[in-house]
Amino acid sequence: MFCLKQRTVKKEIEIKGIGLHSGESVRLRLIPAGAYEGINFVRNGTVIPARIEYATGFDFSTTLSKDGVEVRTVEHLMAALYFTGIDNVYIEIDASEVPILDGSAIEFIRQLKRAGIHTLDEEKVYAVLNKEISVRDGDKFIVGRPDSSFSATYHARYNNRVIGDRKYTFYALKENFENVAMARTYCFLEEVELLQKMGLAKGGSLENAVVFEGDTVLNPEGLRFEDEPVKHKVLDLIGDLYLLGYPVVGSVYSFKGGHRLNASFVRKLIGENAFELKTASEVEGLAVKRLVA
Ligand code: ZN
Repeated sequence: MFCLKQRTVKKEIEIKGIGLHSGESVRLRLIPAGAYEGINFVRNGTVIPARIEYATGFDFSTTLSKDGVEVRTVEHLMAALYFTGIDNVYIEIDASEVPILDGSAIEFIRQLKRAGIHTLDEEKVYAVLNKEISVRDGDKFIVGRPDSSFSATYHARYNNRVIGDRKYTFYALKENFENVAMARTYCFLEEVELLQKMGLAKGGSLENAVVFEGDTVLNPEGLRFEDEPVKHKVLDLIGDLYLLGYPVVGSVYSFKGGHRLNASFVRKLIGENAFELKTASEVEGLAVKRLVA
C-alpha cells in the first residue's frame, strides 16, 4: 500500500496455527521494530531477514533459511505485511513453518489491524522500476515495467473449467486488496497424494485450502470468489515480490508463474539494477504524491 512513512506493529501480536506442509503447531510473535530494520524472522535465536538472498526453497511455498535454520511458507504473511504497509517487524517463530490459518492472508491482516499499526517518523522507501525486466521458464514468464503506481497481474491457464484461462490485476491505487487477501490457497485432489508422498500438505484440510476434484470444488462453502485461485496467485506474487525488501512501484505481469519464477524475477531486478530506491517524497509524479496531497 502507498504510505508516506515507514510502519511497524504497535505492540506484540501472537498468532497460533498449524503449518500447511509440516502439520506442526506453531506460534508466531510479531514484535515492533525500528525504521530501516526491515522484516526479520527469528527462530532459535537465528535472525533470518525476509529477503530474497535468504530464499532457498520454492516447491509449493517459499522457504527462507540461514545457518541451517529454516522458515517456510512465508508468502501469505509477507503479502499481509505489504498490504498493511509494514516495513519493519521481528517475527519470532517456534516451528519451521508460518501458520496457514485459513489459507489466505486475511487473518494475518485482521490480527495486525486489531493490534494496531504504528507509523514511524522515517519516510518509506520504494523500489521504483526503471526498465523492463523479464524472466522466462518454458512458456511461463514474468515481466516488470516502469509505471506510476504498483500493479500485479496473474494470468492462469489451466485445462480445467473452474480455473481455465483467467487474469486478475491488483491495483495498489484502487486498494482492492481485500479481494486478493481473502483468496485461499488451492490444490487438486489428484495432487494431494503426491504432495503427501513428498512429505508436504500434512496440515492441509478443507479448512485451509480449496480442493478441486476435476471441475468440482470439494469445500462445502464453495469458492469465496469465482476467480479465487487466480486471485490467490496474485497474493503469492505480491508476497514473494516483497522479498525484494521494498514495495515495488511498477507493473508486474505473471503468466503461469509460481514461487520459483517469482524469486528469479526478484533476483533479476537486483542483478540488473532494474530499480532505484526512492523515498516517498522523492517519488515524483507518482500516485503516492497524489494520495498524500
Ligand atoms: Zn499461496
